[in-house]
Amino acid sequence: MSVAGLAGLGMGAAEAGERMWKLMAELYPVCRSITGEGFRSTLDTLAAHVDLDVHEVPSGTQAFDWTVPREWNVTDAYVEGPAGERVIDFRASNLHVMSYSVPVDARMPLSELRAHLHTLPEHPDWIPYRTSYYADNWGFCLSQRQLDALPEGEYHVLVDSSLTEGALTYGECLVPGATDDEVLVSCHACHPSLCNDNLSGVVLATFLAKALAGASLRHSYRFLFIPGTIGSIVWLSRNESRVDRVKAGLVLACVGDPGRLTYKRSRRGDAEVDRAVAHVLATRGGPYEITDFSPYGYDERQFCSPGFDLPVGCLNRTPHGQFAEYHTSADDLDFVRPEHLADSYAACLEVVRVLEEDGTFVNRNPKCEPQLGKRGLYGAIGGRSDTVQLQLAMLWVLNFSDGGHSLLDIAERSGLPFGLLSDAARALAAAGLLAGR
Ligand code: ZN
Repeated sequence: MSVAGLAGLGMGAAEAGERMWKLMAELYPVCRSITGEGFRSTLDTLAAHVDLDVHEVPSGTQAFDWTVPREWNVTDAYVEGPAGERVIDFRASNLHVMSYSVPVDARMPLSELRAHLHTLPEHPDWIPYRTSYYADNWGFCLSQRQLDALPEGEYHVLVDSSLTEGALTYGECLVPGATDDEVLVSCHACHPSLCNDNLSGVVLATFLAKALAGASLRHSYRFLFIPGTIGSIVWLSRNESRVDRVKAGLVLACVGDPGRLTYKRSRRGDAEVDRAVAHVLATRGGPYEITDFSPYGYDERQFCSPGFDLPVGCLNRTPHGQFAEYHTSADDLDFVRPEHLADSYAACLEVVRVLEEDGTFVNRNPKCEPQLGKRGLYGAIGGRSDTVQLQLAMLWVLNFSDGGHSLLDIAERSGLPFGLLSDAARALAAAGLLAGR
């Protein structure tokens, strides 16, 4: 199959980085959780950028061993000190209220309140992020400095929240290609004001979908904007009969911090996506890390559970739990920068290019090297600066295009970037030297 070249797909990475950061800033103030209006309004914002199908799954719905929880919403939450002033205020930061806190309106001494207060003594200015999805509880998160300043006395605690038989909401964006073979891109969108963990993946997935929406594609691309864990479990339970279409997948999370790109392989370990990402990271320059699958992390845990074992890996910069700002108020708009989002975006598009353009071709002139000069393939091609590399790439493509080696095989063996080999293959096919392209 001939595939239109994907080099230069989408807008430039630097511009995409700026625009992703702006979208992140727009989504940052929203109080999201695994259900509720914050999640819905986040999808509303994304729908201005991509075609989004929004699904509502009623509370109580069974999904394998799990049950869709009640829907949680919060309108206000605060702690009033002995003098009547708000000493902890949800309106100042949505991290102050523990996610899924049950409603409470009570007075109590500081000694009793302390059991419900969460701080990070090692980072005394930061507010931690805490949740209690599956146990009825309430709590407040605050900086250690705030806690240390609280005088003894009676406090008034109010959490104006609701836990109702509502729904779990998730968004799905399908960018159709020529075939039903699917590439799954999934991100969690269930955290409140946290940037790297949550919003960086959300805006990257959104801008990848935007870039691909205008391209001529071989695969169809399915983007999921879901609450972590329960969202992927619910999606898998509703799509069990169709998941064999998934030929590759990436979970995107923590893709906007200054750290190096890190790829966690799928459970299979040698799936095409594992090879494609490893190749892209190895050849694009700069530090990177590749780790083996482990049953801990983001939604790859569900996609790679043994009953599915989908070829889905996880792309991060610094993985969850390995940066100090993780699950704290310091994972903010200063921590995630446009240039890091841009770098992650560029890497993802290179991976897409491998998935789209890989194929096994046949050299039509296999007995000794064909004479490239008389076909205009020797010397400068279109004034490219990488002419020497391109000629080397042509020799590799010609030698190993014996019907038994794919372009990605050749890329791995030669150490040349896949994109260069794909360009070479296109030039060779245009000159009649390569069949099957
Ligand atoms: Zn998280």
